[in-house]
Amino acid sequence: MTKDHLRQIHCTSLTAEKEITPDKLQEMLEAVEAFWIYSGNPADCHAGMTSGKHTNGFIDVLRLLCYSDISLGLAFALANKIRSEYDGPIDWVIGSDHAGAALAQNVACWLGAKSDFTEKGPDKSQFWKRFQIEEGEVVLQVEELMSTSLTFGKVREGIRAGNPTPVTFAPVAGVLVHRSNVWDFDGTKILAFSHYDIESWTPTECPLCPAGSKLIAEPKKHWLELTTRH
Ligand SMILES: [Zn+2]
Repeated sequence: MTKDHLRQIHCTSLTAEKEITPDKLQEMLEAVEAFWIYSGNPADCHAGMTSGKHTNGFIDVLRLLCYSDISLGLAFALANKIRSEYDGPIDWVIGSDHAGAALAQNVACWLGAKSDFTEKGPDKSQFWKRFQIEEGEVVLQVEELMSTSLTFGKVREGIRAGNPTPVTFAPVAGVLVHRSNVWDFDGTKILAFSHYDIESWTPTECPLCPAGSKLIAEPKKHWLELTTRH
């Protein structure tokens, strides 16, 4: 699949599919150079992160979500997945600033709910300050990618802190790509299309360097070399 092919995908072709399989999602992410997993072969490269750590995987779902038809189609599938597990009320769909925002709005369209996003503050905090969630209304959280539960938790914390009355969260939440070990957060079950175990290490702890795998320090600039398998 190529980027040109992605641009030709209309959301109706995705909404016609029964479900988005992990392979299908991975194929689309690879087309926009947003997905790489170390092959396990030391002849292949591994990647450095901006933090200085080394890693065996890289996923950036936002690069796919800027293709608006695909975002809408993925949101449809996520809404269906949520409805297959939870048929109770959903009044708001809320995601994080930045990448969760558009997805939250698209999911809300398919669920007939209201939507907005929390806004980034200092120290990874997320603020809720523009709307009041009425008492009794139910909030569904969605995120495009869950790496740890940090952002997910900050969104929830921000909504609670910014709303004048107590907030009820749905017993499920929707995630496109899950790479965390958290499947239950504060009583909310995390539903995801795909899961990957990705690790990162300090340079001295990295097991891939001593195994002979070459480090690619700037993966986005050397994407072809990183993703070439021997
Ligand atoms: Zn390394």
